[in-house]
Amino acid sequence: MKITAIETIQVRVPLKPNRNTLTAHGVHITSDYVIIKVHTDSGIIGLGEATVAPRWSGETPGSCIWAIREILAPKLVGLDPTCINQARLLMDRALKLNPFTKAAVEMALWDISGKAAGVPVYVLLGGKVRNIIPTKMVIGAFGLDQVKSLTEEFVAMGIKTIKVKTGIELEADVARVKAVREAAGPDIGITIDSNCGWSPATARVALKRLKPLNILIAEQPIAPGDNAAMARLRQASGIPIMADESAFTLADTWNLIRDGAVDVISIYPGKNGGIANSIEIANAARSAGVSCHIGSNLELGIGTAAMIHLAASVASIDSEKYPSDILGPHYHVADLLKTPLSLGIEGALVPTGPGLGVELDEVQLQEFRVDGRI
Ligand SMILES: [Mg+2]
Repeated sequence: MKITAIETIQVRVPLKPNRNTLTAHGVHITSDYVIIKVHTDSGIIGLGEATVAPRWSGETPGSCIWAIREILAPKLVGLDPTCINQARLLMDRALKLNPFTKAAVEMALWDISGKAAGVPVYVLLGGKVRNIIPTKMVIGAFGLDQVKSLTEEFVAMGIKTIKVKTGIELEADVARVKAVREAAGPDIGITIDSNCGWSPATARVALKRLKPLNILIAEQPIAPGDNAAMARLRQASGIPIMADESAFTLADTWNLIRDGAVDVISIYPGKNGGIANSIEIANAARSAGVSCHIGSNLELGIGTAAMIHLAASVASIDSEKYPSDILGPHYHVADLLKTPLSLGIEGALVPTGPGLGVELDEVQLQEFRVDGRI
């Protein structure tokens, strides 16, 4: 089997009106992503999703499409698509960084490999260690009335863990988390995510004031680049610290662990440049007794499926203790799949079809594609 072409399709999918997000990075109202199809001479087509966000990795739909057309496709056309490790080497040699673009291609190669073998991707990864992946919902850095009503809505749905966005302004951040705790009651798990928004000094004060609210994890309280500051915060706060924006690569992971900067590392295929890279990071973390957690960049259906296969197959991605962010489809008006993934209250169920186990809905794709707007 050989790769014959890589097709890129830019899409713009709005978030549901009551599910827009607001974080220290800004507002998220539409998802401008790229769906890719890797074509082969066998007729099998692999699906990928580049969940690009300029504020995350510097990638845009335009940069992704150009990089695939001009740099990656010329290296990969003619290659056996099941030679995923070879494709990873070729992509890394040809193009620095650009993890979400490379992840889209890599997940499509896993999809092809699974379809060719007639097995789900999780089987190729060594098989499942869990059938269901616990998840949480996220509340943006909104005003207190909206925060309270969202909390009540999620608790009524049966959600067991809620992530609250912080990192905007100290007093408002503390008030927001307090409002969630009051509305949720004592039994709901609460994590906070500051998305790099606090200075180390503000983070120290904030975590001290939030500690009595029983916080499961403080995610990326400060900006990447100063692991020593993260380590001091970890020592002082008594709240487990999770790295997200600090942990894109295997080298990032090594540095965070060596510097004693983290208790948990957030991983997912897009940010890490593919499923195989996420597994390498999870294994490096495991060697140091550090757990992993599935994070998110608000994926549509294909990207979410890749996360689920990863989360299902790696034991040290401890979604039972740290529920995952496998939630993108809940937030969008469409997931671009013919049959939606099963993302119920108990968690995400693992698709059982060959490859990623999802089918692109061409009708939705036509509705949301935005040709020529890069
Ligand atoms: Mg995060």
